[in-house]
Amino acid sequence: MSKKLTYYLLVMGCQMNESDAERLETILNSAGYQKTNNEKEADLIGVLACAVRQAPMDRIYSRAHKWNLWKEKKPLITLLSGCVLQYDQKKLAKKFDIIIDIKDISGLPAILNENKKKIEQNTNTNYLQIAPNYESTFKAYVPIMTGCNKFCSYCAVPYTRGPEISRSSVEIFTEIKDLLRKGYKEITLLGQNVNSYGNDINDLRSPHAGKTEMSFPELLHEINSWDGDFWLRFTTSHPYDMSDELIAVMAEQKHLAEYLHLPVQSGNSEVLKKMNRHYTIEHYLERLEKVRQRIPEIALSTDIIVGFCGETNQQFMDTARLMEQVGYDMAYISQYSPRPGTGAARAFQDDISRKEKKIREKYLTEILKKTAKKYHNKFIGKTTKVLVDNIKNQTSDVRSSGHRMSENILTGKNREFKNIQFKGNKKLIGQFVDVKITSATPWALDGKLVE
Ligand code: SAH
Ligand code: SF4
Repeated sequence: MSKKLTYYLLVMGCQMNESDAERLETILNSAGYQKTNNEKEADLIGVLACAVRQAPMDRIYSRAHKWNLWKEKKPLITLLSGCVLQYDQKKLAKKFDIIIDIKDISGLPAILNENKKKIEQNTNTNYLQIAPNYESTFKAYVPIMTGCNKFCSYCAVPYTRGPEISRSSVEIFTEIKDLLRKGYKEITLLGQNVNSYGNDINDLRSPHAGKTEMSFPELLHEINSWDGDFWLRFTTSHPYDMSDELIAVMAEQKHLAEYLHLPVQSGNSEVLKKMNRHYTIEHYLERLEKVRQRIPEIALSTDIIVGFCGETNQQFMDTARLMEQVGYDMAYISQYSPRPGTGAARAFQDDISRKEKKIREKYLTEILKKTAKKYHNKFIGKTTKVLVDNIKNQTSDVRSSGHRMSENILTGKNREFKNIQFKGNKKLIGQFVDVKITSATPWALDGKLVE
């Protein structure tokens, strides 16, 4: 029997790419390929690119160069998908054998079989209907929509992913019910802007046709009403669309976890305007206040961009003050990276030096360390429910017997999405357990299994 062809995937960026990779795997498996973690032995190398910043794109250029050198010694097919701006697509066309829009991947087996180089665009299939090859057996991403209509001036996503397209609620419920039947414990609903779920479907109809699809709060409320022992999360929310209705559903809790990722991007309303974010800092804070009134212990995380075009030191200090004021327990802080073709790249100068961006990022990280540690300290002495996720082997001396023994350190997350580690048996992976927290750092909590 001949050896099966293998593929290696390089998945960059956000959860949407991780989720898309699970569908791409199904397609490659159906084309007769088998997954490998060894890049060097693969017959096909696929990249799910991230265009949000320049650094991951630079990595793709250098990796593609290396793979093309490998091709001189052995047959190899290279494939590029995910988020790629037109600007890069043109430049990378010669470096990859296949460049394919993620929405068109069901056409991939035909392309591979016929050894075709070019791709048919817009096959118009709903790629989210492809059954994913889930990475985990107990937690799953479920995309509820693709694309984004927001056009934040710095952002590549509306160009790479196109307009918002919502999946039907019936299809979403079928996928989740199937996962729950299989015993999955955590479901994360995905979309670039989940709050506007359904708007595209409803907007397509004339005002007389009425509403044909659920809104995001209705969708959440429905899943939250189901029986079972599972946690429900969603990402990402946009402050502009963070409605009272959504906050009311979050306050139902039950399956819905006490965690909200609400990107602010900047603490200054003028900068937000230049970013085309459609809200002021006052609006953002008012929304957070409402969330905290209804769910006082909620964990809050955010995204921040430092060094956006023309950001003055005073404007930056507004962001620093906002971070102190809100007291986030996590923040993803990025240095602004101009994206070719976006509104900001066309209209403004990227005039904050790299050195200054670095200084600003570091300054905010120091604030985050403080606020995150403060939030984490609240867990010390308390028992928290954890979904066990993984194992880190750690060798330690057991002095009484004089033997060196390998001890299992398990890792997992609680409802508040905190990283937690504790000793335990690897059989617990995929289970809910109770852990008593003994100490905290800005990034994690340590604890003891409650047996
Ligand atoms: N849809 C999500 C995620 C967008 S990309 C949202 O709206 O939050 C994830 C994060 O990357 C953004 O929130 C932003 O903080 C950061 N980002 C996007 N474009 C960027 C750019 N050009 N430079 C630096 N960071 C950027
Ligand atoms: Fe990008 Fe803004 Fe859309 Fe998020 S909401 S994906 S930052 S354009």
